[in-house]
Amino acid sequence: MPFSRIVGHKHIASLLMRALEAGKLSHAYLFDGIDGLGMKDTALALVEAVFCNGRDGCGTCSSCRKVGGLRHPDLHLVQPDGAFIKIDRIRELQKELSLRPYEARTKACIIEDAERMNPSAANAFLKTLEEPPGEALLILLTTHADGILPTIRSRCQRLRFPALPMETIEADLRERGAEPESSRVAAALAGGDLARARRLVSGDRLQVRKLFLERAAHLSGNDVTQLFAAAEEYATDKESALELLDLLRLFWRDVLLLRTGSPGITNSDILPLVNEKANTHSLDEVMEKLECISRIGNALARNANHRLSLEVLFMELADA
Ligand SMILES: [Zn+2]
Repeated sequence: MPFSRIVGHKHIASLLMRALEAGKLSHAYLFDGIDGLGMKDTALALVEAVFCNGRDGCGTCSSCRKVGGLRHPDLHLVQPDGAFIKIDRIRELQKELSLRPYEARTKACIIEDAERMNPSAANAFLKTLEEPPGEALLILLTTHADGILPTIRSRCQRLRFPALPMETIEADLRERGAEPESSRVAAALAGGDLARARRLVSGDRLQVRKLFLERAAHLSGNDVTQLFAAAEEYATDKESALELLDLLRLFWRDVLLLRTGSPGITNSDILPLVNEKANTHSLDEVMEKLECISRIGNALARNANHRLSLEVLFMELADA
């Protein structure tokens, strides 16, 4: 994908193009931010531009097409194997990078979720950064830069990818054929992450979210069996529990916005439900709910049991 077709991030694209034209590309980059998709597209666009047989990543020459299809012999992609990127994969990469390029003038590698290198892999990779084999271009992508060894971070040029504006995401979803209302809600829910927004409008995810919020909003503190059943049903793992918490946080934030007469609610497709809660809860009660959600979110992040956490959460959010 050429730079021109990346959604958003124009200033980063132009910075990289200028560096390339001036022959001043760094040998290692760390792309860090919320928008994982934008980072990967930008990394591939940079590799295309470096490898291109025509000019600056034309997107159409055989080299660009191979990079775009992830089948260029000089492009090495590293992804976690299970939860981690392990040392064997880094050793394999080092071997690949030590060979002469097959077709391009240099080799390139893109490491996705770079924070997931385990300690031995990270230490091995540090050696590659300290003594780069040949002229390889190394691009690390991460949405959690804090999880990367400081010694690795400091040897890369760091480029921060900001969250994409809601309007940019909404326009992208509309262009891809999503309904106006779904596009608006998904863009608001995605928090600047294009991949997340696209996932939300595909399949029935928005509908599932709507049903969850409707159910959560009508749980009663007098019916503990029903509360526990809901917690058990939804607490499949930590990640999904955190996602549900995020949905509830945005929902109660909307209730707060309505109560205070502020514009810009996220869940515009379930406005009657948001309204119902705004009319039946005082400002203090809404603040209490939001505090509870944030407290339980912190506990979950510190590895509290996710089912117990959801039980407590549902109990505190339930109406008496
Ligand atoms: Zn090309």
